[in-house]
Amino acid sequence: MDLLLRGRYVLTSAAQREAGVLTDAAVAVRGDSIVEVGDWRALRRRHPQARVVGNGKQLLMPGLVDAHSHGRALSPIQKGVLNDYLENNLLDWARMPGFDPELTAALGVVRHVRSGCTTIHHMGFDTEGAQAPDLCARAIRTYLAGGIRLAFSPGVRNVDKLVLDSHAFLGTLPPDLQEFAEPLVNIDGEAIEKQYFELFDELHRTFASADVQILISPSWAQACTERFLLRAKETADRLGKIPIHMHCVQTPIQKAFSLRKYGKTAIAWLDGLGLLDENVALGHAIWVTEGDIDLLATRRASVTSHPSCNLGMRNGLAPVYAMVRRGVNVAMGLDDKTINDDEDAVMELRMLHKLHRVPSYDLRTPALDAYDIIAMGTLNGARAVGFADRVGALAPGMKADAILVDLDRVLNDPWLSPDLPIAEAFLHRAMGEDVNTAVIGGRIVMEDRRFRTLDVKSLYREIRKAVRSIAPAQRQRAEKLQRLRPYYQAWYNTWLDDEGALSRAAPYYVLNSRA
Ligand SMILES: [Zn+2]
Repeated sequence: MDLLLRGRYVLTSAAQREAGVLTDAAVAVRGDSIVEVGDWRALRRRHPQARVVGNGKQLLMPGLVDAHSHGRALSPIQKGVLNDYLENNLLDWARMPGFDPELTAALGVVRHVRSGCTTIHHMGFDTEGAQAPDLCARAIRTYLAGGIRLAFSPGVRNVDKLVLDSHAFLGTLPPDLQEFAEPLVNIDGEAIEKQYFELFDELHRTFASADVQILISPSWAQACTERFLLRAKETADRLGKIPIHMHCVQTPIQKAFSLRKYGKTAIAWLDGLGLLDENVALGHAIWVTEGDIDLLATRRASVTSHPSCNLGMRNGLAPVYAMVRRGVNVAMGLDDKTINDDEDAVMELRMLHKLHRVPSYDLRTPALDAYDIIAMGTLNGARAVGFADRVGALAPGMKADAILVDLDRVLNDPWLSPDLPIAEAFLHRAMGEDVNTAVIGGRIVMEDRRFRTLDVKSLYREIRKAVRSIAPAQRQRAEKLQRLRPYYQAWYNTWLDDEGALSRAAPYYVLNSRA
């Protein structure tokens, strides 16, 4: 036996709720997997040679899964761009400086692992051009060297990259802006598709394994052609139902677009194409209808929810409560935009918990509890990114991905009733910085808050050294894009209230009342 992970409390699986919580217990690890879970003393007697990790006072639990991020590591805010409506931010992001993938991926490891995330899903954004294979490979190698479990997806849009319904939009621009925007609108969707699947095939061939997932990721559902989506589905199915992950109905504008273009919701449109399936995860999924939630549940699709990002980007709130009750697999995502701008996954669990406690006159409706929420950050996330049955719980046969959480703040500040379940105590009182140790695939990546796989101080130095102002060409392009803003806003405003879809629809969450 290689390791014995020891906890005063061991939360083995959120799905088993209270019955899955053991006291004075341990997890025995051989190689990269868990072989036994049980009483600490009994396991110690059987494996006297194993190295013990954990001081016996901590909470041992499955490592958390960030099922939706973009690998930027430095947030838009750190790069000087405040969060705003997605549609505005798409123009603003053009002025963010870039960093080498070695720096962002290593920082991604640090910022995730230090708050308990042992799996990251890095979803690229428009992974294009001759450099793409090299940039992706360098990022992937850095994540793996850093020791985090990785789901990696190159991202792509092959239609309507500038604005939804872009050809019609072009006609609303004055001549000089039309000239600038025209090449952004008339893109070669088939060439982008061909290049994307070549890139995907190469990454999948090189890196996919039981430990690394390479996913297919249309950046968002409506920014890919139907032909592209069908090819994504066919490719994913052929490779054993690998996950397809895409943003979908993040904003009311995206909702209005589908109603305008297809006469149905985006999710009904995806289902009509045969896309909705157990290997599909939709990021955000805020502007969904009851019918959409039914479809998501029936097809066993997943949703990733990123509450801090949704607040920051004025997206609204996904009806997570209704989704969970209907049986949709809802997973946590950090999306590079967490509430304290530090990728604290424990805080993000708390955001998921707090934001879906909505009022009603009915005093009997149960709220989501700690197990529901911890499942979103463990088992559900693992399923959404293709690690179902391998990650997300501490059980024999599963990968040894676990964290030890110090309980000083939780239990001794200055006292906590022993009657409170430890899962609730963790959810209500812990912070990312209470995560003391992270073991990923049996490898100790962080111990006593010190990284074993990389030198954080020198990484920070390198990042500060690498910061350079953006090149003049990028600045000019970003300024030009800003000039499009009023036209772009006017364009969307012309169709926002089509069919009264937004103003007349009853919301899932009623937070206050005007009349
Ligand atoms: Zn996102």
